[in-house]
Amino acid sequence: MSADDGAALIVGAGQAGLQAAESLRAGGWSGPVVLLGDEDEGPYHRPPLSKAWLAREVEAAQLTMRARAALERKGIELRNGTAVRAIRRERHAVELADGSELRYRGLVLATGATARRIDLPGAQARGVVVLRTLADARHLAAALEGCATSGQPLVIIGGGFIGLEVAATARKLGVEVAVVEAAPRLLAGALPPQLSEWYAGLHAAHGVRVSCGVAPVAIETADGAVSGVALADGSVLPAGLVLVGVGAAPNDALAREAGLECAPGIVVDAQARTADPAIYAAGDCAVRRVDGGVLRLQSVFNAVEQGKLAAAGLLGQSPTAPGVPWFWSDQFDARLQVAGLGGGADAVVLRGDPAGGAFSAFLYRGDALAAVVSINAPQDHMAARKLLAAGRSPAPQRVADATLPLAAMMT
Ligand SMILES: Cc1cc2nc3c(=O)[nH]c(=O)nc-3n(C[C@H](O)[C@H](O)[C@H](O)COP(=O)(O)OP(=O)(O)OC[C@H]3O[C@@H](n4cnc5c(N)ncnc54)[C@H](O)[C@@H]3O)c2cc1C
Repeated sequence: MSADDGAALIVGAGQAGLQAAESLRAGGWSGPVVLLGDEDEGPYHRPPLSKAWLAREVEAAQLTMRARAALERKGIELRNGTAVRAIRRERHAVELADGSELRYRGLVLATGATARRIDLPGAQARGVVVLRTLADARHLAAALEGCATSGQPLVIIGGGFIGLEVAATARKLGVEVAVVEAAPRLLAGALPPQLSEWYAGLHAAHGVRVSCGVAPVAIETADGAVSGVALADGSVLPAGLVLVGVGAAPNDALAREAGLECAPGIVVDAQARTADPAIYAAGDCAVRRVDGGVLRLQSVFNAVEQGKLAAAGLLGQSPTAPGVPWFWSDQFDARLQVAGLGGGADAVVLRGDPAGGAFSAFLYRGDALAAVVSINAPQDHMAARKLLAAGRSPAPQRVADATLPLAAMMT
Protein backbone atom coordinates (compact mmCIF):
# COMPACT_ATOMS: atom_id res chain seq x y z
CA MET A 1 0.00 0.00 0.00
CA SER A 2 1.28 3.45 -0.88
CA ALA A 3 1.08 6.32 1.57
CA ASP A 4 -1.28 8.03 -0.86
CA ASP A 5 -3.90 5.29 -0.85
CA GLY A 6 -7.14 6.74 0.40
CA ALA A 7 -6.48 10.23 -0.90
CA ALA A 8 -8.95 12.42 -2.71
CA LEU A 9 -7.10 14.47 -5.31
CA ILE A 10 -8.73 17.48 -6.87
CA VAL A 11 -7.16 18.91 -10.01
CA GLY A 12 -7.91 22.63 -10.27
CA ALA A 13 -8.05 25.01 -7.30
CA GLY A 14 -10.97 27.13 -8.51
CA GLN A 15 -14.64 27.39 -7.55
CA ALA A 16 -15.54 23.78 -8.31
CA GLY A 17 -12.34 22.30 -6.90
CA LEU A 18 -12.62 24.19 -3.62
CA GLN A 19 -16.25 23.17 -3.27
CA ALA A 20 -15.42 19.52 -3.87
CA ALA A 21 -12.62 19.65 -1.29
CA GLU A 22 -14.75 21.32 1.37
CA SER A 23 -17.73 19.06 0.73
CA LEU A 24 -15.51 15.98 0.97
CA ARG A 25 -14.28 17.11 4.37
CA ALA A 26 -17.73 18.17 5.55
CA GLY A 27 -19.08 14.80 4.42
CA GLY A 28 -16.49 12.85 6.40
CA TRP A 29 -13.80 11.82 3.87
CA SER A 30 -11.22 10.19 6.14
CA GLY A 31 -8.10 10.24 3.94
CA PRO A 32 -6.05 13.18 2.73
CA VAL A 33 -7.79 15.81 0.60
CA VAL A 34 -5.34 17.52 -1.75
CA LEU A 35 -6.24 20.49 -3.94
CA LEU A 36 -3.79 20.86 -6.83
CA GLY A 37 -3.79 24.18 -8.69
CA ASP A 38 -1.46 25.25 -11.48
CA GLU A 39 -1.94 28.96 -10.76
CA ASP A 40 0.40 30.51 -8.20
CA GLU A 41 -2.56 32.02 -6.39
CA GLY A 42 -6.09 31.08 -5.51
CA PRO A 43 -8.64 29.85 -5.08
CA TYR A 44 -10.10 33.28 -5.89
CA HIS A 45 -13.40 34.66 -7.14
CA ARG A 46 -13.41 35.22 -10.91
CA PRO A 47 -16.66 37.23 -11.35
CA PRO A 48 -15.26 40.51 -9.89
CA LEU A 49 -12.36 40.41 -12.39
CA SER A 50 -14.59 42.00 -15.03
CA LYS A 51 -16.70 44.04 -12.60
CA ALA A 52 -16.05 45.41 -9.08
CA TRP A 53 -12.33 44.56 -8.87
CA LEU A 54 -11.59 45.90 -12.35
CA ALA A 55 -13.57 49.04 -11.47
CA ARG A 56 -11.39 49.38 -8.31
CA GLU A 57 -14.46 49.04 -6.09
CA VAL A 58 -13.11 46.07 -4.12
CA GLU A 59 -9.63 45.24 -2.87
CA ALA A 60 -7.59 42.31 -4.19
CA ALA A 61 -7.84 40.68 -0.75
CA GLN A 62 -11.61 40.37 -1.23
CA LEU A 63 -11.05 38.08 -4.20
CA THR A 64 -9.64 35.34 -1.97
CA MET A 65 -12.17 32.55 -1.49
CA ARG A 66 -10.49 30.80 1.39
CA ALA A 67 -7.26 31.60 3.25
CA ARG A 68 -4.69 28.81 3.31
CA ALA A 69 -4.92 28.68 7.11
CA ALA A 70 -8.69 28.09 6.93
CA LEU A 71 -8.10 25.21 4.52
CA GLU A 72 -5.42 23.76 6.77
CA ARG A 73 -7.84 23.85 9.70
CA LYS A 74 -10.24 21.77 7.60
CA GLY A 75 -7.51 19.30 6.73
CA ILE A 76 -7.32 20.35 3.08
CA GLU A 77 -3.85 20.52 1.59
CA LEU A 78 -3.62 23.28 -1.02
CA ARG A 79 -0.75 23.04 -3.49
CA ASN A 80 -0.54 26.10 -5.70
CA GLY A 81 1.82 26.20 -8.65
CA THR A 82 1.30 22.46 -9.14
CA ALA A 83 0.20 21.37 -12.58
CA VAL A 84 -1.06 17.85 -13.22
CA ARG A 85 0.19 16.67 -16.60
CA ALA A 86 -1.32 13.18 -16.89
CA ILE A 87 -3.75 10.76 -15.31
CA ARG A 88 -2.63 7.14 -14.99
CA ARG A 89 -6.02 5.54 -14.51
CA GLU A 90 -4.69 2.00 -14.33
CA ARG A 91 -2.47 3.00 -11.39
CA HIS A 92 -5.01 5.36 -9.76
CA ALA A 93 -2.38 8.07 -9.95
CA VAL A 94 -1.74 11.48 -11.43
CA GLU A 95 1.60 12.65 -12.73
CA LEU A 96 2.72 16.15 -11.81
CA ALA A 97 4.68 18.51 -14.04
CA ASP A 98 7.86 17.72 -12.08
CA GLY A 99 7.47 14.02 -12.95
CA SER A 100 6.39 12.90 -9.48
CA GLU A 101 3.24 10.85 -8.96
CA LEU A 102 0.37 11.05 -6.47
CA ARG A 103 -1.99 8.13 -5.88
CA TYR A 104 -5.73 8.61 -5.41
CA ARG A 105 -8.77 6.73 -4.27
CA GLY A 106 -10.99 9.42 -5.73
CA LEU A 107 -10.17 12.04 -8.35
CA VAL A 108 -12.10 15.21 -9.17
CA LEU A 109 -11.23 17.06 -12.37
CA ALA A 110 -12.06 20.74 -11.88
CA THR A 111 -9.71 22.26 -14.42
CA GLY A 112 -11.98 25.07 -15.64
CA ALA A 113 -11.63 26.63 -19.08
CA THR A 114 -9.19 28.70 -21.12
CA ALA A 115 -10.14 31.98 -22.81
CA ARG A 116 -10.37 31.51 -26.57
CA ARG A 117 -8.04 33.57 -28.72
CA ILE A 118 -8.98 34.80 -32.16
CA ASP A 119 -7.27 33.70 -35.34
CA LEU A 120 -6.90 36.98 -37.23
CA PRO A 121 -3.95 38.68 -38.89
CA GLY A 122 -2.29 40.83 -36.23
CA ALA A 123 -3.84 38.95 -33.30
CA GLN A 124 -0.40 38.45 -31.72
CA ALA A 125 0.19 42.20 -31.48
CA ARG A 126 0.95 43.91 -28.19
CA GLY A 127 -2.28 45.16 -26.64
CA VAL A 128 -4.49 42.21 -27.68
CA VAL A 129 -5.64 40.60 -24.43
CA VAL A 130 -8.08 38.06 -22.98
CA LEU A 131 -9.63 37.80 -19.52
CA ARG A 132 -9.83 34.60 -17.52
CA THR A 133 -7.29 34.67 -14.70
CA LEU A 134 -6.25 37.17 -12.05
CA ALA A 135 -2.98 37.59 -13.98
CA ASP A 136 -5.00 38.49 -17.11
CA ALA A 137 -7.09 40.90 -15.04
CA ARG A 138 -4.03 42.69 -13.63
CA HIS A 139 -2.70 43.09 -17.14
CA LEU A 140 -6.07 44.39 -18.39
CA ALA A 141 -6.39 46.80 -15.44
CA ALA A 142 -2.97 48.32 -16.17
CA ALA A 143 -3.78 48.60 -19.88
CA LEU A 144 -7.12 50.28 -19.14
CA GLU A 145 -5.37 52.80 -16.95
CA GLY A 146 -3.07 53.51 -19.90
CA CYS A 147 -6.11 54.03 -22.17
CA ALA A 148 -7.75 56.34 -19.63
CA THR A 149 -4.58 58.46 -19.50
CA SER A 150 -3.76 58.45 -23.21
CA GLY A 151 -7.32 58.67 -24.50
CA GLN A 152 -6.79 55.58 -26.67
CA PRO A 153 -9.94 53.51 -27.21
CA LEU A 154 -10.66 49.94 -26.15
CA VAL A 155 -12.24 47.65 -28.75
CA ILE A 156 -13.94 44.53 -27.46
CA ILE A 157 -14.36 41.64 -29.87
CA GLY A 158 -17.40 39.66 -28.72
CA GLY A 159 -20.67 40.90 -27.26
CA GLY A 160 -21.06 38.23 -24.58
CA PHE A 161 -21.20 38.71 -20.82
CA ILE A 162 -17.49 39.16 -20.15
CA GLY A 163 -17.02 41.58 -23.04
CA LEU A 164 -20.01 43.67 -22.03
CA GLU A 165 -19.07 43.70 -18.36
CA VAL A 166 -15.61 44.96 -19.25
CA ALA A 167 -17.18 47.53 -21.60
CA ALA A 168 -19.27 48.87 -18.71
CA THR A 169 -16.30 48.93 -16.34
CA ALA A 170 -14.08 50.64 -18.89
CA ARG A 171 -16.67 53.38 -19.42
CA LYS A 172 -16.78 53.90 -15.64
CA LEU A 173 -13.01 54.38 -15.78
CA GLY A 174 -13.41 56.99 -18.50
CA VAL A 175 -12.21 54.87 -21.43
CA GLU A 176 -13.73 55.17 -24.90
CA VAL A 177 -15.19 51.75 -25.85
CA ALA A 178 -16.44 49.99 -28.99
CA VAL A 179 -17.94 46.47 -29.00
CA VAL A 180 -17.96 44.33 -32.16
CA GLU A 181 -20.21 41.30 -32.31
CA ALA A 182 -20.31 39.12 -35.42
CA ALA A 183 -23.78 37.73 -34.57
CA PRO A 184 -26.77 39.91 -35.38
CA ARG A 185 -27.31 40.79 -31.70
CA LEU A 186 -25.59 40.98 -28.32
CA LEU A 187 -25.76 38.05 -25.87
CA ALA A 188 -27.47 35.98 -28.55
CA GLY A 189 -26.45 32.68 -26.96
CA ALA A 190 -27.93 33.52 -23.59
CA LEU A 191 -30.85 35.92 -23.86
CA PRO A 192 -33.93 36.49 -26.03
CA PRO A 193 -33.92 39.29 -28.64
CA GLN A 194 -35.87 41.72 -26.42
CA LEU A 195 -33.09 41.59 -23.85
CA SER A 196 -30.34 41.91 -26.47
CA GLU A 197 -32.00 45.06 -27.71
CA TRP A 198 -32.33 46.37 -24.16
CA TYR A 199 -28.62 45.79 -23.51
CA ALA A 200 -27.65 47.43 -26.80
CA GLY A 201 -29.66 50.48 -25.67
CA LEU A 202 -28.06 50.45 -22.21
CA HIS A 203 -24.54 50.40 -23.63
CA ALA A 204 -25.31 53.02 -26.27
CA ALA A 205 -26.78 55.28 -23.56
CA HIS A 206 -23.46 55.07 -21.73
CA GLY A 207 -21.44 55.94 -24.80
CA VAL A 208 -20.38 52.45 -25.94
CA ARG A 209 -20.25 52.13 -29.73
CA VAL A 210 -21.95 48.78 -30.46
CA SER A 211 -21.65 47.08 -33.89
CA CYS A 212 -23.51 43.82 -34.41
CA GLY A 213 -23.63 41.58 -37.48
CA VAL A 214 -20.17 42.57 -38.61
CA ALA A 215 -17.08 40.43 -38.18
CA PRO A 216 -13.58 41.66 -37.42
CA VAL A 217 -11.18 40.64 -40.20
CA ALA A 218 -7.81 41.89 -38.96
CA ILE A 219 -6.05 43.57 -36.10
CA GLU A 220 -4.16 46.58 -37.44
CA THR A 221 -0.79 47.30 -35.89
CA ALA A 222 1.87 49.97 -35.67
CA ASP A 223 5.35 49.09 -34.37
CA GLY A 224 4.08 45.72 -33.11
CA ALA A 225 1.26 47.25 -31.06
CA VAL A 226 -2.43 47.23 -31.87
CA SER A 227 -3.72 50.37 -33.57
CA GLY A 228 -7.16 49.31 -34.78
CA VAL A 229 -9.62 46.59 -35.69
CA ALA A 230 -10.58 46.21 -39.34
CA LEU A 231 -14.16 45.04 -39.93
CA ALA A 232 -15.71 43.09 -42.78
CA ASP A 233 -17.65 46.17 -43.93
CA GLY A 234 -14.36 47.93 -44.70
CA SER A 235 -14.39 50.21 -41.66
CA VAL A 236 -11.61 50.36 -39.08
CA LEU A 237 -12.16 50.98 -35.38
CA PRO A 238 -9.17 52.75 -33.84
CA ALA A 239 -7.83 50.91 -30.78
CA GLY A 240 -5.07 51.18 -28.24
CA LEU A 241 -6.26 47.97 -26.59
CA VAL A 242 -8.30 45.01 -27.85
CA LEU A 243 -10.05 42.57 -25.53
CA VAL A 244 -10.96 39.28 -27.18
CA GLY A 245 -14.10 38.03 -25.43
CA VAL A 246 -15.17 35.12 -27.58
CA GLY A 247 -15.76 32.47 -24.95
CA ALA A 248 -13.68 29.87 -23.16
CA ALA A 249 -12.75 26.32 -24.16
CA PRO A 250 -13.08 23.60 -21.49
CA ASN A 251 -9.75 22.28 -20.16
CA ASP A 252 -10.39 18.63 -20.97
CA ALA A 253 -7.00 17.51 -22.32
CA LEU A 254 -6.05 15.49 -19.22
CA ALA A 255 -9.32 13.58 -19.37
CA ARG A 256 -9.18 13.07 -23.14
CA GLU A 257 -5.63 11.74 -23.01
CA ALA A 258 -6.71 9.38 -20.22
CA GLY A 259 -9.41 7.94 -22.47
CA LEU A 260 -12.42 9.62 -20.86
CA GLU A 261 -15.19 10.84 -23.16
CA CYS A 262 -15.00 14.52 -24.09
CA ALA A 263 -17.52 16.39 -26.23
CA PRO A 264 -15.43 18.80 -26.01
CA GLY A 265 -15.75 19.22 -22.23
CA ILE A 266 -15.50 16.18 -19.96
CA VAL A 267 -18.77 14.31 -20.33
CA VAL A 268 -20.47 13.59 -16.99
CA ASP A 269 -23.92 12.43 -15.95
CA ALA A 270 -26.34 14.33 -13.73
CA GLN A 271 -24.25 13.27 -10.69
CA ALA A 272 -20.95 14.61 -12.13
CA ARG A 273 -19.67 11.04 -12.76
CA THR A 274 -17.42 10.12 -15.66
CA ALA A 275 -17.39 6.56 -16.99
CA ASP A 276 -14.55 5.78 -14.52
CA PRO A 277 -16.13 5.21 -11.09
CA ALA A 278 -13.14 6.82 -9.32
CA ILE A 279 -13.20 10.01 -11.44
CA TYR A 280 -15.64 12.91 -11.35
CA ALA A 281 -15.59 16.22 -13.22
CA ALA A 282 -17.05 19.53 -12.09
CA GLY A 283 -17.45 23.12 -13.25
CA ASP A 284 -16.40 24.77 -16.50
CA CYS A 285 -14.35 21.76 -17.67
CA ALA A 286 -17.43 19.50 -17.66
CA VAL A 287 -20.49 19.05 -19.87
CA ARG A 288 -23.56 17.16 -18.70
CA ARG A 289 -25.11 14.47 -20.83
CA VAL A 290 -28.76 15.31 -21.54
CA ASP A 291 -31.30 13.88 -23.97
CA GLY A 292 -30.00 14.47 -27.45
CA GLY A 293 -26.63 15.95 -26.56
CA VAL A 294 -24.68 17.68 -23.83
CA LEU A 295 -25.37 20.74 -21.73
CA ARG A 296 -22.57 23.16 -20.95
CA LEU A 297 -23.07 25.65 -18.13
CA GLN A 298 -20.35 28.08 -17.12
CA SER A 299 -21.39 29.68 -13.86
CA VAL A 300 -20.57 29.83 -10.19
CA PHE A 301 -23.81 27.98 -9.44
CA ASN A 302 -22.85 25.09 -11.71
CA ALA A 303 -19.29 24.87 -10.33
CA VAL A 304 -20.61 24.76 -6.77
CA GLU A 305 -23.35 22.25 -7.54
CA GLN A 306 -21.11 19.86 -9.47
CA GLY A 307 -18.38 20.20 -6.84
CA LYS A 308 -20.90 19.07 -4.22
CA LEU A 309 -22.13 16.24 -6.45
CA ALA A 310 -18.58 14.97 -7.03
CA ALA A 311 -17.92 14.92 -3.30
CA ALA A 312 -21.21 13.14 -2.57
CA GLY A 313 -20.40 10.53 -5.21
CA LEU A 314 -16.91 9.85 -3.85
CA LEU A 315 -18.34 9.60 -0.34
CA GLY A 316 -20.95 7.11 -1.55
CA GLN A 317 -23.72 9.44 -0.37
CA SER A 318 -26.92 10.11 -2.27
CA PRO A 319 -26.78 13.43 -4.08
CA THR A 320 -29.08 16.27 -3.12
CA ALA A 321 -31.82 17.13 -5.61
CA PRO A 322 -30.55 19.43 -8.38
CA GLY A 323 -31.20 23.12 -7.81
CA VAL A 324 -32.52 25.62 -10.35
CA PRO A 325 -29.55 26.89 -12.39
CA TRP A 326 -28.94 30.61 -12.04
CA PHE A 327 -26.34 33.25 -12.75
CA TRP A 328 -25.90 36.99 -12.71
CA SER A 329 -24.16 39.79 -14.55
CA ASP A 330 -23.53 43.42 -13.55
CA GLN A 331 -23.27 46.10 -16.23
CA PHE A 332 -23.54 49.81 -15.36
CA ASP A 333 -26.43 50.05 -12.89
CA ALA A 334 -28.18 46.94 -14.23
CA ARG A 335 -28.03 43.70 -12.26
CA LEU A 336 -29.15 40.80 -14.39
CA GLN A 337 -30.25 37.58 -12.72
CA VAL A 338 -31.27 34.55 -14.73
CA ALA A 339 -33.08 31.57 -13.23
CA GLY A 340 -33.57 28.38 -15.23
CA LEU A 341 -32.43 27.41 -18.71
CA GLY A 342 -33.99 29.36 -21.55
CA GLY A 343 -32.67 27.32 -24.49
CA GLY A 344 -35.42 26.45 -26.95
CA ALA A 345 -37.90 28.93 -25.45
CA ASP A 346 -40.55 29.98 -27.96
CA ALA A 347 -42.38 32.75 -26.11
CA VAL A 348 -41.27 35.71 -24.02
CA VAL A 349 -43.59 37.53 -21.63
CA LEU A 350 -42.48 40.82 -20.06
CA ARG A 351 -43.37 41.87 -16.53
CA GLY A 352 -42.58 45.42 -15.45
CA ASP A 353 -41.27 48.31 -17.49
CA PRO A 354 -38.07 47.87 -19.53
CA ALA A 355 -37.89 51.63 -20.09
CA GLY A 356 -37.85 52.13 -16.31
CA GLY A 357 -34.87 49.78 -15.98
CA ALA A 358 -36.51 47.20 -13.68
CA PHE A 359 -38.37 44.28 -15.25
CA SER A 360 -38.37 40.55 -15.93
CA ALA A 361 -38.79 38.41 -19.02
CA PHE A 362 -40.51 35.06 -18.53
CA LEU A 363 -39.41 32.50 -21.12
CA TYR A 364 -41.78 29.69 -22.02
CA ARG A 365 -41.19 26.47 -23.91
CA GLY A 366 -44.70 25.62 -25.02
CA ASP A 367 -46.80 26.03 -21.87
CA ALA A 368 -43.90 25.36 -19.55
CA LEU A 369 -41.98 28.13 -17.81
CA ALA A 370 -38.31 27.52 -18.76
CA ALA A 371 -36.42 30.53 -17.40
CA VAL A 372 -36.85 34.01 -15.99
CA VAL A 373 -34.47 36.85 -16.80
CA SER A 374 -34.68 39.72 -14.30
CA ILE A 375 -33.11 43.15 -14.54
CA ASN A 376 -32.96 45.06 -11.25
CA ALA A 377 -35.85 42.91 -10.01
CA PRO A 378 -34.35 40.67 -7.30
CA GLN A 379 -37.75 39.89 -5.84
CA ASP A 380 -38.92 38.53 -9.23
CA HIS A 381 -35.72 36.45 -9.43
CA MET A 382 -36.22 34.88 -6.02
CA ALA A 383 -39.88 34.13 -6.78
CA ALA A 384 -38.88 32.70 -10.18
CA ARG A 385 -36.43 30.30 -8.58
CA LYS A 386 -39.22 29.06 -6.30
CA LEU A 387 -41.67 28.70 -9.20
CA LEU A 388 -39.13 26.80 -11.31
CA ALA A 389 -38.05 24.59 -8.39
CA ALA A 390 -41.67 23.68 -7.77
CA GLY A 391 -42.25 23.05 -11.50
CA ARG A 392 -44.97 25.74 -11.63
CA SER A 393 -45.84 27.43 -14.93
CA PRO A 394 -48.18 30.33 -14.22
CA ALA A 395 -50.21 31.51 -17.23
CA PRO A 396 -48.45 34.23 -19.27
CA GLN A 397 -51.27 36.75 -18.73
CA ARG A 398 -50.88 36.40 -14.96
CA VAL A 399 -47.11 36.95 -14.90
CA ALA A 400 -47.48 39.92 -17.26
CA ASP A 401 -49.67 41.68 -14.66
CA ALA A 402 -47.11 43.21 -12.31
CA THR A 403 -49.84 43.99 -9.77
CA LEU A 404 -50.31 40.24 -9.12
CA PRO A 405 -47.66 38.95 -6.70
CA LEU A 406 -45.59 36.08 -8.11
CA ALA A 407 -45.64 34.40 -4.70
CA ALA A 408 -49.39 33.91 -5.12
CA MET A 409 -48.73 31.88 -8.29
CA MET A 410 -47.18 28.97 -6.43
CA THR A 411 -50.51 27.23 -6.23
C1 LIG B 1 -14.14 37.52 -15.80
C2 LIG B 1 -15.17 36.50 -15.42
C3 LIG B 1 -16.39 36.93 -14.92
C4 LIG B 1 -17.36 35.99 -14.56
N1 LIG B 1 -18.56 36.43 -14.06
C5 LIG B 1 -19.49 35.53 -13.66
C6 LIG B 1 -20.72 35.95 -13.08
O1 LIG B 1 -20.99 37.15 -12.96
N2 LIG B 1 -21.60 35.00 -12.68
C7 LIG B 1 -21.34 33.66 -12.79
O2 LIG B 1 -22.16 32.83 -12.39
N3 LIG B 1 -20.17 33.23 -13.36
C8 LIG B 1 -19.25 34.12 -13.78
N4 LIG B 1 -18.08 33.70 -14.34
C9 LIG B 1 -17.88 32.25 -14.54
C10 LIG B 1 -17.37 31.60 -13.28
O3 LIG B 1 -16.34 32.35 -12.70
C11 LIG B 1 -16.88 30.20 -13.65
O4 LIG B 1 -18.00 29.48 -14.15
C12 LIG B 1 -16.28 29.48 -12.47
O5 LIG B 1 -15.15 30.17 -11.98
C13 LIG B 1 -15.89 28.06 -12.88
O6 LIG B 1 -15.18 27.47 -11.83
P1 LIG B 1 -14.23 26.23 -12.12
O7 LIG B 1 -13.71 25.82 -10.79
O8 LIG B 1 -14.93 25.25 -12.96
O9 LIG B 1 -13.05 26.79 -13.01
P2 LIG B 1 -11.91 27.83 -12.67
O10 LIG B 1 -12.40 28.86 -11.71
O11 LIG B 1 -11.39 28.29 -13.98
O12 LIG B 1 -10.78 26.97 -11.93
C14 LIG B 1 -10.06 25.95 -12.59
C15 LIG B 1 -8.63 25.97 -12.09
O13 LIG B 1 -7.98 24.77 -12.54
C16 LIG B 1 -6.66 25.11 -12.92
N5 LIG B 1 -6.09 24.05 -13.77
C17 LIG B 1 -6.38 23.79 -15.07
N6 LIG B 1 -5.66 22.72 -15.50
C18 LIG B 1 -4.91 22.30 -14.46
C19 LIG B 1 -3.96 21.24 -14.29
N7 LIG B 1 -3.65 20.43 -15.30
N8 LIG B 1 -3.36 21.10 -13.09
C20 LIG B 1 -3.68 21.94 -12.05
N9 LIG B 1 -4.57 22.94 -12.16
C21 LIG B 1 -5.18 23.13 -13.34
C22 LIG B 1 -6.87 26.44 -13.63
O14 LIG B 1 -5.67 27.15 -13.81
C23 LIG B 1 -7.82 27.12 -12.65
O15 LIG B 1 -7.12 27.76 -11.62
C24 LIG B 1 -17.10 34.61 -14.72
C25 LIG B 1 -15.87 34.19 -15.25
C26 LIG B 1 -14.91 35.11 -15.59
C27 LIG B 1 -13.58 34.65 -16.15
